[in-house]
Amino acid sequence: MARDVLVFNAGSSSVKYQLIGLEQRERLATGLVGRIGENAAGELTHRPAQGSPYEVRDRFADHAQALDAILAAFKASGPDLAGTDLVAVGHRVVHGGDRFDQPTLIDDAVLADIRELTALAPLHNPANATGIEVARKAFPDVPHIAVFDTAFHRTLPPAAYTYAVPREWRDRYSLRRYGFHGTSHQYVARQAARLLGKAPQETNLIVLHLGNGASACAVEGGRSVETSMGLTPLEGLVMGTRSGDLDPAVPAYLERVAGFDAKRIDHALNQESGLLALTGSNDLRDVGRARENGDADARLAIDVYCHRIRKYIGAYYAVLGRVDAVVFTAGVGENDDLVRGLALRGLERLGIAVDEQRNRAAGSGERFISPEGAEVPVLVVPTDEELEIAEQAVAVASGSRQHNAEDA
Ligand code: ADP
Repeated sequence: MARDVLVFNAGSSSVKYQLIGLEQRERLATGLVGRIGENAAGELTHRPAQGSPYEVRDRFADHAQALDAILAAFKASGPDLAGTDLVAVGHRVVHGGDRFDQPTLIDDAVLADIRELTALAPLHNPANATGIEVARKAFPDVPHIAVFDTAFHRTLPPAAYTYAVPREWRDRYSLRRYGFHGTSHQYVARQAARLLGKAPQETNLIVLHLGNGASACAVEGGRSVETSMGLTPLEGLVMGTRSGDLDPAVPAYLERVAGFDAKRIDHALNQESGLLALTGSNDLRDVGRARENGDADARLAIDVYCHRIRKYIGAYYAVLGRVDAVVFTAGVGENDDLVRGLALRGLERLGIAVDEQRNRAAGSGERFISPEGAEVPVLVVPTDEELEIAEQAVAVASGSRQHNAEDA
C-alpha cells in the first residue's frame, strides 16, 4: 500500500511543504507560501508532480490562512489529498533543546515544550509551533511528528558540548552547544556510508553542509560527536549572512567604542555579516563571478570562507583520529567546485585530495571527487532533509500505531 507523508517547514513568514510518496521516494507535490503576515500580497506556488504549477497572489494574514490556501491548491491542482494514503505529517522544528533527542509524536504537551524552547530559538520555534498548530487542526486524524534540527547532535560528548563558562549560566540558562542541520547531517552521513560500502556504525566522516547557513559535523560510527554550530546557528563556519566564529569579546568591545547594544550586534552578526558583509552579496554564485572578474573583496571573501572550512577539517580530523571520507552537501557543497577545491587545498598529508577533473565535472548526483584509491575519499552527496523528515515521521507513526494496537 502506498504511504504518503506531508512535510511542513514553517518559518516566521513562510511555509514550505512537500507531499512525499515513500514507496518510490517521490515528490507528489512541493510548494511554498511566502510573505505571510505582511501587508503586501503574499505568494503561493504549488507544484504537483503531474500537471502544471498553480500560483496564487493573495494576502495571507497568518499561518492558518496560508494553510487554507495550501489545502485549496491541493484541491485545485492535485494530488487529491482525500485520495492519498496520508500516514503522517512531519514537521521540521529547529530547536529541541535538551528535551528532544528523537523525532517525537506531537501532543499538547510536546507542543507546549516546543513553545517553551522559544528562548533558545526566538525566530524559529514560535513559527514552527504555529505551523504545527494549524496543521493539526487541518489533519486531526493523522499523527503529527516533530523532527528536530538539533536531535542528531544529542550524542555529542560533554567535552564537545560544554562551554567553559560560569556554572549558573550552564545550569540555569541551558548554555551549551546544541548544533543544527542535524537532519541533513544524519541523512548525508547514512548515504555516504552506503556509497563507501560500509555500515554506518563503522564509518567516520567529516560532513560539510554548506548552504546559506553552513555547518561542519564530525560523525563517528554514525553518531554526531562534534559540530560547528553552538547554542545558536551563529557559531562556526562563515555563512551567507552570519559571521561564524569570532572573539567573544567583540560585542563588549563594540558596546564600548560604538555604543551598540546587544540586540543590534546580534542582528548584525546574524543578518548583515558573512559573505554579505565581505562582498555585498550573500550568494556564493555572485561572489564567484565577482572573483573571476578580479574583484579583490570577492577573492578575500572566498579565501576567508575556505580557510575556515579547512581549519575545521583539520580540527575534526584530530577529533575523529580516523576519517573514512569528507563529504560536501547543500547548495554550495553540491555545486561549487571552486570552494570544494580551495577548502581541501594542502591537506594531502592527511590523505585528503581532490581530483580536479572529477571535481569540475558537471553532475548533480552522489559522486566521488577524490582520485582513484584515495586514502580519504571526498564525496558530494545531495542532501534531502524533507525525505529524511518523512522517513523519520513514518517510523514514529508506525511505532505509535503498533503501540496503540498493543494497548487495545
Ligand atoms: P539554504 O541553506 O537556504 O537551504 P541552500 O542549501 O539552497 O540554502 O544553499 C544556498 C546557497 O547555495 C546559495 O546562497 C548559493 O550561494 C549556493 N548555490 C546554489 N547553487 C549554486 C551553484 N550552482 N553554484 C554555486 N553555488 C550555488
